[in-house]
Amino acid sequence: MHSVSLKKAVSLVCALALMLCSVLMTGGAGVEAMTADEAKQKLQDLQDELIDVNKELAKAKDAIEEAKQRKNTYTKRVNIVKEQISILQESIDAKKVELSEKQAELDAKEREHDETNDLFKKRIRAMYMNNDVTTLSLILGSDSFSEFLVAAEMQSRISQHDTELIEKLQKEADAIALQKEVIEKELSDLESDMDTLEDKYSELAALLQEANEDLTAAEAYKKATEEEYDRVISDMQETQKEWNELMGTGMISYVGGYYAWPVPGFNWISSPFGWRTLYGQANWHGGIDIAGAGIYGKPILASNTGRVILVRYYTTGYGYHVMIDHGDDNWTVYGHMSSIAVSEGEWVAQGQVIGYVGSTGNSTGPHLHFEIRIDGERVDPLNYLNYNYEF
Ligand SMILES: [Zn+2]
Repeated sequence: MHSVSLKKAVSLVCALALMLCSVLMTGGAGVEAMTADEAKQKLQDLQDELIDVNKELAKAKDAIEEAKQRKNTYTKRVNIVKEQISILQESIDAKKVELSEKQAELDAKEREHDETNDLFKKRIRAMYMNNDVTTLSLILGSDSFSEFLVAAEMQSRISQHDTELIEKLQKEADAIALQKEVIEKELSDLESDMDTLEDKYSELAALLQEANEDLTAAEAYKKATEEEYDRVISDMQETQKEWNELMGTGMISYVGGYYAWPVPGFNWISSPFGWRTLYGQANWHGGIDIAGAGIYGKPILASNTGRVILVRYYTTGYGYHVMIDHGDDNWTVYGHMSSIAVSEGEWVAQGQVIGYVGSTGNSTGPHLHFEIRIDGERVDPLNYLNYNYEF
C-alpha cells in the first residue's frame, strides 16, 4: 500500500513536470507574429491542454481524498492503540504496586523469621554457654532429680516451640515468595503485551505519517495544477482576444470540412430530425436532441470554426442558446444550455467550449438541441456531422 501511494505521488509530480515542460516549449512561440490561423491553432491546443489539466486536477482530488481516508483510518487506529496502551500502563502500574506490597510483606516476614531465629540462637547459645551452670543451678535449685528432669523437659519444649515457630515463619515466607513470583510473571506478561502494543503503535504511526506526507504532496500538486489551470485559462482568453482582433467582424468564408460532434461522449439521439409526435401531435423537429445519463453540465463544443453571432438567455423556446456563423450561410444552433461560455462577436474554433448542457427553455430534460442551417434551411445534422470525430 505504501509503495503504491508513493508511486502515485511520484507519477503525479512527473505528469506535472511534463506538462510544464510542454508549456515552456510551446509557450514562447512569439505572440506578435501570430496569424489568425496560428491563433486559432493555439486556442485549440490550449483547449486540449485544459482537458489534460482538468484530468490532472481530478487525479489530484482523488489522491487527496484517498490520502485523507487513509489518514482518518490510521488516526482512529493509532488512537485505539494509544487508549489500549494507557489502559495497559494502568494495569502495569497497579501490578507494580502489588509487587512492591508483596515484597514489603515478604521483607517483613523474613525479618520476623530472622529476628525469631536470632533470638532463638541467642537463647540456645546462652543455654549451652551456661550449660554447666544451668544444669548445676537446676540441680542445685531442684529439690529432687525429678524436678530437674521436669525443668530439662520444659527447656526442651521451649526450644521445640521456637523451632516450630521458625519453621512456620519460613513456610509463610516461602508462600509469600511464591505469590510474589506469580505477580512477577503477571507483570512480565503485561510488559510483553506492552512491547507488542508499542510495536503496533510504531507501525501505525509510521503509516499515519506516510498518509500525512501523501496528503501534503497531493495538496501541493493540486495547488500547482490549479495555478496551471489559471494560466491556461488566461492564455486562452488572451489568445481568443487576439484571434478576434485578427479576424475582425467582416464576412466569413466557410472553412469547410466536417461538422464535429458537439457533445463528446454522448451519442444517444433522443429525438431525431424531422417529423415526430410530441404530446400526441405531429411536430416538425428542426434539429437533433442529444441526451444521455449524466449529460447535464457537460461541455458543448463548437461543431465548426466560426463567429458567435447570437447569444440569448431565454426561459422559453430554445432556452439559453447560441448561434454560430461558419460562413457562406452555414450556421449551427445550440439550445437549452445550462450556461454559456462565449459572447456575441467572438470567434470560436472547432471543438472550443461554448457552453454546458442544460434543460432551459422548452425542454423536458437535460439535452442539447443541435441544428445545422444551410442557406437559411434547417437540414438533418446527421448528414453533415462526423460521428467518428472525437475531440
Ligand atoms: Zn430539439
